[in-house]
Amino acid sequence: MNTASFYRETWAEINLSAIKENVTHMKKHIGQNVHLMAVVKANAYGHGDLEVGKAALEAGASCLAVAILDEAISLRKRGITAPILVLGAVPPEYVQAAAEYDVTLTGYSVEWLQEAARHLGSATVPFHLKVDTGMNRLGVKTEEEIQSVLKILSQNPGLVCKGVFTHFATADEKNRDYFLFQFDRFKTLIAPLPLKELMVHCANSAAGLRLKKGFFNAVRFGISMYGLRPSADIQSEIPFQLKPAFALHSVLSHVKKIRKGESVSYGATYTAEKDQWIGTVPIGYADGWLRKLSGTSVLIGGKRMNIAGRICMDQLMVELDQSYPPGTKVTLIGSQKEETITMDEIAGRLGTINYEVPCTISSRVPRMFLENESIMEVRNPLLQDNTSK
Ligand SMILES: *Cc1c(COP(=O)(O)O)cnc(C)c1O
Repeated sequence: MNTASFYRETWAEINLSAIKENVTHMKKHIGQNVHLMAVVKANAYGHGDLEVGKAALEAGASCLAVAILDEAISLRKRGITAPILVLGAVPPEYVQAAAEYDVTLTGYSVEWLQEAARHLGSATVPFHLKVDTGMNRLGVKTEEEIQSVLKILSQNPGLVCKGVFTHFATADEKNRDYFLFQFDRFKTLIAPLPLKELMVHCANSAAGLRLKKGFFNAVRFGISMYGLRPSADIQSEIPFQLKPAFALHSVLSHVKKIRKGESVSYGATYTAEKDQWIGTVPIGYADGWLRKLSGTSVLIGGKRMNIAGRICMDQLMVELDQSYPPGTKVTLIGSQKEETITMDEIAGRLGTINYEVPCTISSRVPRMFLENESIMEVRNPLLQDNTSK
């Protein structure tokens, strides 16, 4: 029996050593007494939640954060025992499930706390209180609401407040005014809470990287744990070298020479201006290599080669400068020799932010986890295994 981890040679490489390095540097920057919460929502921004979570915890993270309860339960079922905070809104009728799996929820309104208490019965659930200081997404907004929260907590011992936090809307922008306004508002709103007993956090990657102090006692580290900058605006304020963890590779599956005047792909939008070598690569928009990337380039033999014509669902074609044997490596994100295609370059071509790009690479693309350049594990949801190589 053939037991390959994947049968199509298109894969994402996740460098766990880079994740660990980024965490180690951030811990040093924020101070060893400040907790680092590794944000692994959305399958760790498409990188692989279990493996990234474990690597971050090994490198000094205190806990993990996800967006939805399903993500937290999935991590618990796969053996994560560290605290996990759900940052998003969990319907109060599911607090029992959270209690069962010892998952920390976000209490984001007075009504939510009341309903959660009602559904909790005799169970106990940890939560962090979300304070809205200007994002207007989730959270209690006023001094009066904070007082109501304190009252509900005194009457419902099953609701165990372990932390309080807010989220900045503009931490990655050059102008700091709104950020500082939110920061001050946070300090005012949380003043009546027993802060010494709580995990208090406001900083995401951007705020965490830019601040020199004022982290309270925890930082939520997302995008920059993956070695990506929160924005171009704050590039000069990043205090250490970020190391990107995500690379995307494939191979040439078919190589042929077409004649001058022949066209390539749907719509025949590409026409060869001379006799031209064309290579076919088994990746397409169903893998997250979106049609909008038609006209961009990939790396082959350390050189940039242009995508020829439209990207198909499962394949794309490239203009080659010469013949290459089938099986030749193609890099879509990452480096070959002196050339690099960064996540920021692809995001720019898509008219979006770097956050969105790895999230878009679909589960059809297996994730291969590397540490110190050796393959630790391959995860391919299609074959539902995680073969060690
Ligand atoms: C996603 C998220 C983060 C992480 O932000 P980065 O910019 O990726 O560091 C932090 N806090 C909350 C509430 C989030 O939803």
